[in-house]
Amino acid sequence: MNREIREPERVTPVIAETDVLVLGSGPGGLSAAVAAARAGVDTMLVERYGCFGGNLTHVGVEGIAWYRQGDTVDVEGIGIEFEQRARKQGAAEREVQSNSEAIHAELFKVVADDWIAEAGVRPLLHSTAADVIRDGDTLRGVIIQNKSGRQAILAKRMIDATGDADLVHLAGGECVKTEKEKMLGVTVMFSCTGVDKARFLEYVKANPVKYKDWGRNWDMETSGKEDELFSPYLEEPFEKARAAGVIPPGLKGIGGTWSTISDHGEATYLNMVHMNEYDGTDVWDLTRAEIEGRRQAMQAIRALNRFAPGFGDARLRNFGMTVGIRDTRKIRGRYDLTEDDVRNQARFDDSIGIFPEFIDGYGVLILPTTGRYFHVPFGALIPKAAAGGPGLENLLVAGRSIAGDAISHAAVRNMMCCTVSGQGAGVASAVSLKTGTSAAGVNIAGVQAELRRQGVRLH
Ligand SMILES: Cc1cc2nc3c(=O)[nH]c(=O)nc-3n(C[C@H](O)[C@H](O)[C@H](O)COP(=O)(O)OP(=O)(O)OC[C@H]3O[C@@H](n4cnc5c(N)ncnc54)[C@H](O)[C@@H]3O)c2cc1C
Repeated sequence: MNREIREPERVTPVIAETDVLVLGSGPGGLSAAVAAARAGVDTMLVERYGCFGGNLTHVGVEGIAWYRQGDTVDVEGIGIEFEQRARKQGAAEREVQSNSEAIHAELFKVVADDWIAEAGVRPLLHSTAADVIRDGDTLRGVIIQNKSGRQAILAKRMIDATGDADLVHLAGGECVKTEKEKMLGVTVMFSCTGVDKARFLEYVKANPVKYKDWGRNWDMETSGKEDELFSPYLEEPFEKARAAGVIPPGLKGIGGTWSTISDHGEATYLNMVHMNEYDGTDVWDLTRAEIEGRRQAMQAIRALNRFAPGFGDARLRNFGMTVGIRDTRKIRGRYDLTEDDVRNQARFDDSIGIFPEFIDGYGVLILPTTGRYFHVPFGALIPKAAAGGPGLENLLVAGRSIAGDAISHAAVRNMMCCTVSGQGAGVASAVSLKTGTSAAGVNIAGVQAELRRQGVRLH
């Protein structure tokens, strides 16, 4: 249906003014807000749901550094604090396949509350960015929509950490999306209770799965060095379930990874439903994905009940608060990262941090087992205005929607890399304000000096 209505002009109350306004509170936005506040400017963090954390808390993605092996050269900035703070507050447990912490997705909500309070960030929940405010060519703030109505927040600098580049899109910047047929799949995450941990781990020990086994159902390119490493991947019970008619034989997207099994029999972060051809910026697709995803998660549980030792009495504990989206809009940037950059240790003068050579997506899995890493360039955070369109000078992007091609997205979308772009965007916004330049025109040496002061490894 292509009908349209024209809305009347309206008067909108300004509810706050701030130096740096961060929209979206996933690993990218949370890092951006804390980093900006630590750099000494007034910072607000606005989030559409009722808690901070993005996919980590809303979807239940526990594995912030599941790629980390003995020889990995890892980031040293704010990302490491996610694990440290979670551990300190009892919200982390040893991750099963790596030298890292699995984050407790529910408790991390409290960790994030405490973290932003300590950093002096002003929080606003339940508020969705609905439009940008312009004064001629200059961005002045954001219109939000929430239960109080439609409201305005004025800001000197803005950071789009919505994952979907919502602000850049609303501001008329250039964005790209992978064709729907090739977009990374979406997932309804779920957790179970009633698992017999000892029995399940015995089964895993007797039937060890390696990364090379991922390829049985999916096409997966590795670099070879990953193949013999242990992976918490489950396929056999689902193959049996297909053969027994518990899952329709054509439904190949059920199967995947398990994560933490608590001593109380809770299996969390069950990443076992993968559905393709859903666009996370299309509300009809989101609606279908939520409903179909829940249906498939229940089929997965029935299969686990029948064919996964230890899961015989398991029941649903919860679904993620929302369907998990991996892949939507990416900005076109001053610099667009490439596959070559993330595969071949790119080096940039405007580096805002490093990220290990970890690629996960579009049929490629490369783990950073050998200490290789690339620089994340500031240029990939700077959105390009559309040809002939209005300027975006004071808007930066953090998180999974920074500029680059598909394979570079399979690297930068990882939560730890989102913390790198987040910290870079937060610091650059603060430094630009203090030095009287635009965010896009900030002196990179000043940004790098503040990042170093905040503990970031730049090179
Ligand atoms: C099922 C699944 C499993 C994954 N597994 C892993 C894994 O094991 N390890 C890993 O590192 N990565 C994993 N990823 C990828 C990773 O979770 C994301 O790429 C990462 O969280 C992106 O971080 P972000 O900060 O860019 O965005 P998000 O984490 O998506 O956060 C964006 C935030 O912005 C808010 N928001 C969105 N639009 C608006 C708006 N208009 N106004 C206000 N707020 C808004 C959202 O509510 C959300 O809080 C997984 C992803 C999925 C979906």
